[in-house]
Amino acid sequence: NLNFHPAGRHFLQIPGPSPVPDRILRAISYPTIDHRGPEFGALGRQVLAGIRAIFKTQHPVVIYPASGTGAWEAALTNTMSPGDAVLMYETGHFASLWKKMAERLGLEPEFLGLPGIEGWRRGVQADLIEQRLQADSAHRIKAVCVVHNETSTGVTTDIAAVRRAIDRARHPALLMVDTISGLASADYRHDEWGVDVTVSGSQKGLMLPPGISFNALSPKALAASRVARLPKAFWAWDEIVEMNSTGYWPYTPNTNLLYGLAEAMDMILEEGLDNVFARHLRLGAACRQAVRAWGLEIQCVEEACHSPVLTGVMMPAGVDADRVRKLVYEHFNMSLGAGLGKLKGRMFRIGHLGECNDLTLMATLSGCEMGLGLAGVALQGSGVVAAMAHLQSTAQATARYP
Ligand code: PLP
Repeated sequence: NLNFHPAGRHFLQIPGPSPVPDRILRAISYPTIDHRGPEFGALGRQVLAGIRAIFKTQHPVVIYPASGTGAWEAALTNTMSPGDAVLMYETGHFASLWKKMAERLGLEPEFLGLPGIEGWRRGVQADLIEQRLQADSAHRIKAVCVVHNETSTGVTTDIAAVRRAIDRARHPALLMVDTISGLASADYRHDEWGVDVTVSGSQKGLMLPPGISFNALSPKALAASRVARLPKAFWAWDEIVEMNSTGYWPYTPNTNLLYGLAEAMDMILEEGLDNVFARHLRLGAACRQAVRAWGLEIQCVEEACHSPVLTGVMMPAGVDADRVRKLVYEHFNMSLGAGLGKLKGRMFRIGHLGECNDLTLMATLSGCEMGLGLAGVALQGSGVVAAMAHLQSTAQATARYP
């Protein structure tokens, strides 16, 4: 009988949802309050002000009781009109899903990128965007949409370079960025990078359960929303932004997740946002040392674009990555991310985001190494030893023994 409860905690090492820290779980467990009452207004004002620091913006951030997909839809329906051309860039599975949504909404998305899986191994090439915008002298393209941290591949894109490309082309298109899996793990700067709409979600770097998502806005995006003609009701920014100014929502918000959000922001700001980014960069580097020592290929082939959030591990020919994941789950009580879309069965993804620390990563890599062994994958060496050496040589105290 294998249906008993396995000992120890489950290792949820997929690239989101990430494990929810006890502090946040406790905050979420407080009693639900009247969302029109005075206590709620204080909570609303607190989270709406605090979240701006996480996005690095002075402008409104809308919080929806919805998954990230809803916030994608909100970004498009608030700013676009039927038949508008949008320039999107194929970095992976999530970029493809956002494009599919644009088609369903009656927009005309155009997909840039390299063919096959080559484009799924690199960040956005901003010069391709610049060339395409330069050719669009009639300004038919109304938005450029890119994914900052492509969760399906482990590739991060230089958003400032995309902004520069749009500016060099002197093109008025809005810049919309999905950082659903990047926010609060990978460096992100909504205002400084000139992003018009940033889309994000709760269940990754913010360490919350799934269930809330975000649109960070620019004044230009708000102006576009006043003339855009796609139908919008639940997602409409105007009512939400107006009611948010006093800390309330036009409908029932996700009260308990907002308690969790307040707690998550406290934790992130206590550690310091830049320290959070540095921790993720270091864990990502250690994880890649492990993959290289195993003699396996990393999905991302551009040195500057390795994601600090997750690492995609390619399998040698003939090895089914989903079988490795199944063995790891069955023997070590750990979930790894599957290969998505074009990469199904060809790779697995190791999440190292959110609450992850040195020992979480070491345990995770041990489970991967043992699972690869059980699957009969011939490894060149020990990734665990290589990652440990990296973590040890870059170790930093995070607490003081009294
Ligand atoms: N975009 C990216 C980059 C994602 O990683 C995800 C989910 O993993 C989504 C969009 C969709 O978000 P959700 O599943 O919360 O709707």
